Amino acid sequence: MVTFLAGGTGTPKLLAGAEGVFSPAETTVVANTGDDIELGGFLVCPDVDTVLFLDGDLLDRATWWGIKEDTAETHEFMHSLADSAGLDRGPRYLSADRQTTGRPIARWRRFSGVGEFMHIGDRDRAIHITRTSLLDDGHSLTEVTRTLGDALDADREILPMSDDPVASLIHTPERTMHFQEFWVAHEGEPAVDAVEFRGAEAATTTDAVRDALDDPVVIGPSNPITSIGPMTAIDEIAAALAETPVVAVSPFVEDRVFSGPAAKLMAAEGFEPSTAGVAEAYPFADAFVLDAADGTTLDRPTVRTDTTLNSEDDSERVARAVQDALEVVA
Ligand code: GDP
Repeated sequence: MVTFLAGGTGTPKLLAGAEGVFSPAETTVVANTGDDIELGGFLVCPDVDTVLFLDGDLLDRATWWGIKEDTAETHEFMHSLADSAGLDRGPRYLSADRQTTGRPIARWRRFSGVGEFMHIGDRDRAIHITRTSLLDDGHSLTEVTRTLGDALDADREILPMSDDPVASLIHTPERTMHFQEFWVAHEGEPAVDAVEFRGAEAATTTDAVRDALDDPVVIGPSNPITSIGPMTAIDEIAAALAETPVVAVSPFVEDRVFSGPAAKLMAAEGFEPSTAGVAEAYPFADAFVLDAADGTTLDRPTVRTDTTLNSEDDSERVARAVQDALEVVA
C-alpha cells in the first residue's frame, strides 16, 4: 500500500496516469481540506473533489477542477440575479459571529452564496449539496467522502486530512482573507505577510488517515504551503510523516515553478522559492524526485526525470521515478 498526499493539481496530475505503477486498489489519497469553504450554505472541498472527479472519470482536465462538460445555469442565473438586485458579486463573508456558529467544519470560511465567486457547475453543485446534506445528517466528512467515492466508482480510497475545521487564511498588509478569496477572486495578486492554518492546533486527524500514514507516503508536486502545510500543521500528521518513508516530487525546476502561487507563499513563510526551499519545508521527506534539468544538490537521495506532467505517459514516467525513490528509502 502507498499513500499520496494531494492538493488540487500536482498530485492529481501525477495520479492521472500512475495506475500501471501504483495500483488503485493499493493506493490511498489523503486530500487537503484547508482550501475548503462553505459557499451559500454548502461545503465545497476543491482538493477532495479534484481527486474524486479524477477517479470517477469526471474531472475537467483542462482546468483540474470541476466536472467535464458541466453546465453552469444555476451559477449564471445567480450572477444575473445579483446584478439585477445591485448586489456585490465579490466574495462576501458571513458576519464575524457567524464564522464560528453553524456547521463546525465550516468555521472561519463561511461565505454568502450571493456573489458566488467560485465557478460552480450544475453537476458539481449536486456533489456539494449531497455532501452537505449527509454532513447535516450527522456523518463525518470522511464517511461522506467515502460515500461519494462509492457513488462515483472511484477506485482509490480518498480521505480528507481531518474531520475537523482547518482554514487556510492569507494575511495581507490590508486584511486577512481565505486562500480561496486570495487565489480565485484576486488571482494571487495581494502581497502576503503570512499564512495561517486556523484550527490546526486543535484539529486531529482520523483513524483512516493514521492507518494510511503507516504506509510509505508520496507527496506529488504540490504547493508546500497551502496544500501540504495544512496537513503538517496537524501535529499527528507531522509526527506520522517523520516516522514513515516519504518521497516528494518538486513542483519547481530549481527556482522555476510550474504554476500557481507556491513561490510567493513560500517566500512569505521564509522559504526560498525553489527546490531547495521545498526540501527545507519537508524535513520529513527521505528522498526527492527532481526534474532532469534541476541541478539542485540536496542532502537526501534524489532521482531525476522529466517532471513535466502534461499527459498520462508523463504521469507514468514520474510515477516510475517515485517508485525508484521509494525503493531507496522504504
Ligand atoms: P493547488 O491545490 O492547485 O495549489 O495544487 P497543488 O498544491 O496540488 O499543486 C500545485 C503545484 O503543482 C504547483 O506548485 C506547480 O508548480 C506544480 N505543478 C503543476 N504542474 C506541474 C507539472 O507538470 N510538473 C511538476 N513537477 N509540477 C507541477
